[in-house]
Amino acid sequence: MKTFPNPSIATSAVKSSNLLISHQCPQCGAPAILEEADRLFTCAYCRVRSCLLQNDYFRYLFPGPHSENNDLIFFPYWRFKGTVFSCVSDGIRHRFIDVSHQALPSQCFPVSIGLRSQALKMQFVLPESSGRFIPPHLPFSSVLSVFEDRLKATLPKPVFHQAFIGDSFSLIYSPFFIKDKVYDGLLNQPVSSEPPEDLDAWLSSAKPPSKNIRFVPALCPSCGWDLDGHRNSMIFTCKNCHSVWRTDKNGLKKMKFAFIYEPGDNIIYLPFWRITADIEGIRLQSYADLVKLANLPKACQNSWKDIPFSFWVPGFKVRPQTFIRISQNITLGQPNEKLIRELPNAAIHPVTLPVEEAVQSLKIHLAGFMKPRKLLSSMLEEIKIKPKTDLLVYIPFLQTAHELIQPRFQLALNKNQLALAWNL
Ligand SMILES: [Zn+2]
Ligand SMILES: [Zn+2]
Repeated sequence: MKTFPNPSIATSAVKSSNLLISHQCPQCGAPAILEEADRLFTCAYCRVRSCLLQNDYFRYLFPGPHSENNDLIFFPYWRFKGTVFSCVSDGIRHRFIDVSHQALPSQCFPVSIGLRSQALKMQFVLPESSGRFIPPHLPFSSVLSVFEDRLKATLPKPVFHQAFIGDSFSLIYSPFFIKDKVYDGLLNQPVSSEPPEDLDAWLSSAKPPSKNIRFVPALCPSCGWDLDGHRNSMIFTCKNCHSVWRTDKNGLKKMKFAFIYEPGDNIIYLPFWRITADIEGIRLQSYADLVKLANLPKACQNSWKDIPFSFWVPGFKVRPQTFIRISQNITLGQPNEKLIRELPNAAIHPVTLPVEEAVQSLKIHLAGFMKPRKLLSSMLEEIKIKPKTDLLVYIPFLQTAHELIQPRFQLALNKNQLALAWNL
């Protein structure tokens, strides 16, 4: 089986499923398989539920064969999986990518990990992981620009703006060993004719891995009640004391949130990020500015100048077209209903898109509603959007047999779509 692509191919772009990670239950030690999107882990043996915390990003490794003779060296690759939105003159295009690239430029190692991450189970890189780990020398951003250039080459010119909205960005270590040549630790085959010249320098900068992940019990830090959440939730809720929690590297952190009330039995609340921003290069501070910029068929009232403008971005993953449509409809509608600082007493859809990814999409939404689009698109590069505040707001949708309906913002979402990952 040929696992690595031809080295002349700088990256691999493939459709993928979730990576699988073998691990142990933090409570009872039972073996467990996690999917890479999992944030809430329920042990099949002891039933204890734990939230998974990470530092900056996840680090995974392909477990190499244990061999006494050959010291395993782990070589770093950056990986991005997510959707890329591109603004071109005929509109907004999107593409799902799952790509990896060397985090250290070297001719002696394969350029990417190819399809390997889909075929093999991985492990978290932990302090007890054996082997020597070469640290990344390139920042993730410079590898991202490699992906960006490759993608631009497939698009009609000019490309006014691109946004990478990630499902995951991680560092993946692949095992090698060095004898007369560099050998792939999994295939036991040479991948280059000579060992890299800089190997000693790299290895001297290799430190034992630090503790980058942690599990904490899925219990409300305020009242001790069980937290609610889906296995892929970025946010956990406590219906006992009406609190909402997100994870950071130190533990669970309390978040501000609100909901818009709607009476009725068949209501489900969908999470949105309400984001205010400093916008330079185009006037968009108030509702009056929005009406003008989006050319809404409304007679502008003087008081609208005093209503501040906010972006509204889904806090959940849906198909890219739907993601843009939902955000556009709600942003153009600028919800001004009363915000209640409690959890609604109804079904809640999990937050699966964190605010850090939502803010990456702001310029795409702006590009979607500004008019005349053709004229303004060329300005996109100069427009700067600096997020200022964000609030998690649950918006009510009426559930019918197959759809979720929000009449005020003219939205009807197919229920199946919400269940699907957005790479479909
Ligand atoms: Zn367990
Ligand atoms: Zn609580």
